[in-house]
Amino acid sequence: MPHSATTAKYIFVTGGVTSSLGKGIISASLAKLLQSRGYRVTIQKLDPYINVDPGTLNPYEHGECFVTDDGAETDLDLGHYERFLNTPTSQANNVTTGKIYQTVINREREGAYLGKTVQVIPHITDEIKRRIKLLGETGQFDIVITEIGGTVGDIESLPYIEAVRQLIWEIGSTNAVVIHLTLLPYLSTTGELKTKPTQHSVKMLLEYGIQPDILVCRTEKHMSHDLRRKIALFCNVNVNAVIESIDASTIYEVPLLMMKEQLDKVVMHKLKLPSKHEPDMQAWKDFLGKLKNPVREIKVGLIGKYIELKDAYKSIVESFIHAGVANECKVELVWIHSEKIDNDNVKSQLKGLNAILVAPGFGERGIEGKITAIKYARENNVPFLGICLGMQCAVVEFARNVLGLKGAHSTEMDAKTKHPVIDMMAEQKTIKAKGGTMRLGEYPCNITKGTKAFSAYGKLKVAERHRHRYEFNNAYLKSFEAAGMTASGINPNTGLVEIVEVKNHPWFVGVQFHPEYKSTVIKPHPLFVRFVKAALEN
Ligand code: GLN
Repeated sequence: MPHSATTAKYIFVTGGVTSSLGKGIISASLAKLLQSRGYRVTIQKLDPYINVDPGTLNPYEHGECFVTDDGAETDLDLGHYERFLNTPTSQANNVTTGKIYQTVINREREGAYLGKTVQVIPHITDEIKRRIKLLGETGQFDIVITEIGGTVGDIESLPYIEAVRQLIWEIGSTNAVVIHLTLLPYLSTTGELKTKPTQHSVKMLLEYGIQPDILVCRTEKHMSHDLRRKIALFCNVNVNAVIESIDASTIYEVPLLMMKEQLDKVVMHKLKLPSKHEPDMQAWKDFLGKLKNPVREIKVGLIGKYIELKDAYKSIVESFIHAGVANECKVELVWIHSEKIDNDNVKSQLKGLNAILVAPGFGERGIEGKITAIKYARENNVPFLGICLGMQCAVVEFARNVLGLKGAHSTEMDAKTKHPVIDMMAEQKTIKAKGGTMRLGEYPCNITKGTKAFSAYGKLKVAERHRHRYEFNNAYLKSFEAAGMTASGINPNTGLVEIVEVKNHPWFVGVQFHPEYKSTVIKPHPLFVRFVKAALEN
């Protein structure tokens, strides 16, 4: 078998039978276990769709767009990877078919293929393999987990499966392991778990030249030893490589369930990785213990316009889980559609909430409802956190109702407003192309002493991730500050207002950046922790 020089070991995670089985959570859980054994692990997601990135996708289509430090607009699974591992991902961690083809077609236009016919095999598969190896070749990781989006058998994911087949051959089978995630449907009439869909799905992988080493079986009932033996026999895997993945009450339980099933051990055995020490999962267990046994409970209103699809606000939801645990409290989110809030019903809609969060977003729809909710929070001393568009709406609300600037708005919603308190950033004005063109990724922010932001962070310099085109219009800053809304966080290089807060209020904070992208199990985000604390005190 030909071996090319490789420093990292590769784990491929494929999915069969149906989509939405939770490949992302299984990948992140395995990564967590290997990390807790002292290995440096990263996870990469290969998405078979033709969009270059999910940045231009409607959140209703694909859920939240997650943003990395280096400004990649990515699949929301990368959020899970970061929340579990507490290590940042980057551009290289999310690859789409659009990106692969774009690279190959650009090379073809440059004449790099020297007149050859450019084909799926070898040119597309070569580019896929190059992208898979990229993270391993940095020397930063001992193990790279590559999650292949979609379901085996989809036309779209075929080139990825083929690339994996070739790569295993090239790097040698002790450097690669294939985990196939499948579903065992439960037939309540006969009281049985059925294995046939799993057998068929493995057969399909075999047709493509891949023998999975490990089967992770999603199931709602425990698997008997006989059932495991049967699957092992039909699918040519060891019985200890048939892993049960029983439905869990929270995704944060899955690493411990996988540890019990010894998924990490089976992987290490196949990869001939020495056991440095047993997994150290104590901090994780403490987190889970607190998550399952909260001593208090609060209700937070989450106001947005994509609330029909909870995945559209994935990172915010998870940030509340982390911040809730930090406060030993259960945060119940009350989802409120911004289009349904008006002056007449705002009181009844928001009554009984301990705090209000206004979510990020784009475009006009539901804006006035957000502004009305913010006015209510400000006037009634309800703790408030506005994120990105939520912060911009807080600025508009303050301009209209405190500064008396009638018709004040963001130029995103009203290009001709007399008082453009939120305006397009200068650098954005000449940009016409969509996708990857916003102000993206991590930028520094200086915090003002004596503010709520400072008491949350406890330091003067922070860096947070962004995804926006509009900003606070500094021409109005003096009037805002004189009236009681201060800028407590500012970009040191450009003067861009990153955080606003209302002085005479228990906790009213708006942030231009997205704190939710940086909250992890081990490091809950300080703004969310303080916000939940303020809600508890309300
Ligand atoms: N639409 C606003 C902007 O582009 C806010 C973006 C957001 O909430 N992510 O500035």
